[in-house]
Amino acid sequence: MKTIYCIGELLIDFVAIKQGNDLSKAKEFTKKAGGAPANVACAISKLGGKGQFIGAVGNDPFGTYLLNVLKENRVDISLAQRSKTFTTMAFVSLAEDGERDFVFSRGADKKLKYDSKLKKQLKGNIVHFGAATGFLGGGLEEAYDRYIFDAITQNAFISFDPNFRGDLWKGEEECFIKKCLRFIGKSQLCKFSNEEIQLITGEPDIEKACNIVHELGCPIICVTLGGEGTLVSTVDKKTTVKSIEVTPLDTTGAGDAFIGCLLYQIANIGDPHLILKDYDQLIEMVSFANRAGAITTTGYGAIPSLPEHDAVFKS
Ligand code: ATP
Repeated sequence: MKTIYCIGELLIDFVAIKQGNDLSKAKEFTKKAGGAPANVACAISKLGGKGQFIGAVGNDPFGTYLLNVLKENRVDISLAQRSKTFTTMAFVSLAEDGERDFVFSRGADKKLKYDSKLKKQLKGNIVHFGAATGFLGGGLEEAYDRYIFDAITQNAFISFDPNFRGDLWKGEEECFIKKCLRFIGKSQLCKFSNEEIQLITGEPDIEKACNIVHELGCPIICVTLGGEGTLVSTVDKKTTVKSIEVTPLDTTGAGDAFIGCLLYQIANIGDPHLILKDYDQLIEMVSFANRAGAITTTGYGAIPSLPEHDAVFKS
């Protein structure tokens, strides 16, 4: 079984307990572990795979809490880093008009230092780049630029999820798009939401948007469509793979569960690049990944709701 290295942010989400207030009025918050790449590493490890997290948290109690959450979920954190800078925090509330009010306090995640030890370990394995903060500058962005180069030279299978957060890129969307395009062209697998692929390609028709992404050099694209399932696109074929029916309570982390479950299966076929030649197997894998995404919506919070192996593969 191959290891899947998930590189990016691990942070505290402070979510207002009483929704319907903007942050200026919210009084109490719950502390939750957040960060898409960390969620993906948990999704893989909960399924029984080898998920490794590479990222930085502060040398403070919040950093300790976050690393403990990953450990409890069997994620390998041996290459995670502690920084003197405080742990990154996001404060979130839904205001009365349904708009998300958001304050982001960026700390340790941007202090990640490139670690040359990882380069050899990447050989033939899988690397997932999915940080919402990955293109916001600092050490994390530098590490991204170097690790993708290492991944290519080590023949690793590269997966990319842009995780666009409008709150973080207001007025700077063009810069975000430019940075994404570099990673898309080097990846074997890209996972987008509907809105992300439209934003990045400037093409409202999803199938045409997929063709633009293929022209950039990415051979496998998954566009997640919530309850509608996932559009899978390769250069020759496109299929919408249906999801299962569920009653969703909270959709947070569904996309991370989806990509985690897909990568878990790709890690189990020997050489991950073989999936590029087996469309039928890819479709079968996506239908299991849809189940993982769907199950995650049936509980509150991302990490606690990620499914264990049998819930996805044996029911
Ligand atoms: P995120 O919300 O984590 O940013 P995303 O928008 O990429 O991620 P979704 O499209 O919400 O992710 O969900 C990922 C996958 O989970 C979908 O492709 C689908 O297969 C499954 N899924 C999500 N919501 C539902 C639902 N309501 N019913 C059935 N399946 C769902």
